[in-house]
Order: sequence, then structure tokens, then C-alpha cells
Amino acid sequence: MTLLEVEDLVVRYETGDGPLHSVNGVSFSIGGGVNYALSGESASGKSTTVKAILGLLPDHGVVESGHVRFDGRDLLSLTPSERQDLLWEEIAFIPQTAIDALDPVMSVGAQIRQAIQTHRDVSERTADRRTHELFETVGLNPARVGDYPHQFSGGMRQRVVIAMALALDPKLIIADEPTTGLDVIVQDKIIDNILQIQKETDSSLLLITHDVSVIAETCDEMSVLYGGKVMEQGCTDNVLLNPTHPYTMGLKNAFPSLDDNRDTLASVPGKPPTLDTKPTGCVFEPRCPFASEECTTTEPDVETLPYRNHGVSCHNADQAARMRQDAEDTTT
Ligand code: ATP
Ligand code: MG
Repeated sequence: MTLLEVEDLVVRYETGDGPLHSVNGVSFSIGGGVNYALSGESASGKSTTVKAILGLLPDHGVVESGHVRFDGRDLLSLTPSERQDLLWEEIAFIPQTAIDALDPVMSVGAQIRQAIQTHRDVSERTADRRTHELFETVGLNPARVGDYPHQFSGGMRQRVVIAMALALDPKLIIADEPTTGLDVIVQDKIIDNILQIQKETDSSLLLITHDVSVIAETCDEMSVLYGGKVMEQGCTDNVLLNPTHPYTMGLKNAFPSLDDNRDTLASVPGKPPTLDTKPTGCVFEPRCPFASEECTTTEPDVETLPYRNHGVSCHNADQAARMRQDAEDTTT
């Protein structure tokens, strides 16, 4: 069953320099109980996609076209109050910076209790008990429910936000780089917390992250974005172990290899595109080692490859995949 379906989403920001198309026809869908990753380097449009899904774009952000359906409902046509209810009750959002989600003048326990009591007909005692449980689940000392946000470290604040987001047993958890800026041990614990709760509640997870090793460990399916477009998508094993798009191949080399412990890091040469003018051909063409004439003139569509659920947007995917395979065969 499909829980979230994003279809041909186009989002622009009106900026002082004119319109900036940050998301250019993104489609993907997430089934019930599935862990899904949105990946791609900085400025590829990950957060903008998520904000458009949740109706959290700033005033100068416009959904130009496309559809977003959640559990059969059209999310783009909800009223602000319908969206507010849905956000708390069915979709939990853990934003990129935890501090933005917390009220500085209210104790964290009171914020969680208030969220529970606003949406559930429960006594203060029950809401308090649930708050304590949530603190324990995310590894915070329940004795600190009366503390204020500034009394917690960055990692602890992120856990408070996770506890708050999960207070109402959501069907979908959306976490936008939930561990940015935190040290590695705390990062692992936070990802473990999210996964533990996701399993307990049998919810789906949309995890936005650059970190290929986190995706490999935690996600069933993924999309790789570049310049506001999907480059490759499908089962994580297929996409990461048999990347077919040249960009995914480069992205994978930008991190320590998954199957050996190479400590040299390679990255995709060149810079991400500026999106103020829509490119005529493939958005990755200027950086692509496989680019041909067609790539400069014709934008590729996401084509589904003949194995489970694997889509790739590249005119030369077959050639690129063959060359990668040959290179791998020679080195092994
Ligand atoms: P990161 O990995 O750095 O979080 P991202 O993939 O989440 O990057 P977005 O934040 O969605 O990328 O940004 C996509 C593009 O939209 C970028 O070019 C960015 O500069 C632009 N952008 C993002 N937010 C705004 C905004 N509020 N106003 C104008 N442009 C924006
Ligand atoms: Mg982002």
C-alpha cells in the first residue's frame, strides 16, 4: 500500500534575482512500513521537497505543479488547520535544526505534554506519563522534563524534538538531516532511536541525508536528487551496489566505499548547477564524464529499468553501468 506519493513536483522560490526552480519534476512513493532515503549533495532540493510536502515553504516558495497524496488525501489542497492536525497526528517532522522546533520560554516537558493534550483527550497525568516514557525511549533522563531548551546540548535538543514528534504515534516520520552538526556517536544513537520507534510503531520513514553509509544500513529504498531532479531511484541495494547513473557512481565514491575500507575520498568534479535558468538538456551534463551530444539538447526522463523498481534518468545509463562493471571486474 502506498502511504506517500509525490508526483511531478515542481517548486520555485521567487528571489531578488528572479525565479529559482529548486525542485523540477520530482516523483517518488513510499509504502507502509518502508524506510525511504532522499539523498544528493547540498542544494539538490531535498529540504525544499520536504517543505513542499508538508506545506512549510516560506511565502516566496511556490508549488508550481505536481501532486502530493498521503494515505489517499491530497496534501497540497489542505487548509492550514487540516494541515496542522495532520502534521501532529499522522506525520511527524524532525527538522534540520532542532532549535527551530522548540519554544525557548517553555520547559520541554510542558511542550510535549501540550502537544499530546491538544490532540488527544487524555488527562494531564496520562500526558505526563507518556512524556516520561518518550524521554526514556530517546535516552534522556526523565528527571529533566522541567528543563528549558537552552539547558540541553545540541544532541539532547535533537532527541527532545524526536520525542515530541513521536508523541502521537505517526504513520510517517520525516527526518531532515536529523544528525547534522552532532558528533558521530550521538548521530548513531539518534538514528537508532528513530529506527527503534519506527519499528515499534510500524510507521514509514522518509530520511533526508547525504550519508550513504547511514542509508545502506537503514533504508529499503531511495531517490538520489541532483539539481532538483531525480537522477536514480529504487531499492537501496540496487542503487548503491549497482549504481547506473553517473552521478550516483560519483556520489558513492565521495564516501568511503561500502564494500571495502578505502580511506581515499573522491568526489564528483565540478559544482552543483545554478537553477535560475532551466537547462535545456540533462542538468548533470556539465559534470558528467559520459555526456554525449544528446545530453546537451534533450532532458532525460526517469526510465524504469527491467528489475524491481529501479529508475534512472540518463541517456547513457547502459554504457555507464557497463563501464563501471568492467572497472569493478578488473579491480577484483
Ligand atoms: P542541503 O543538503 O544543504 O540541506 P538541500 O538539498 O536540502 O541542501 P534545498 O535547501 O532544498 O537543498 O535548496 C535547493 C535550492 O533552493 C538551493 O539552490 C537553495 O539555495 C535554494 N533555496 C532553499 N531555500 C530557499 C529559500 N528560502 N529562498 C530562496 N532559495 C532557497
Ligand atoms: Mg536541506
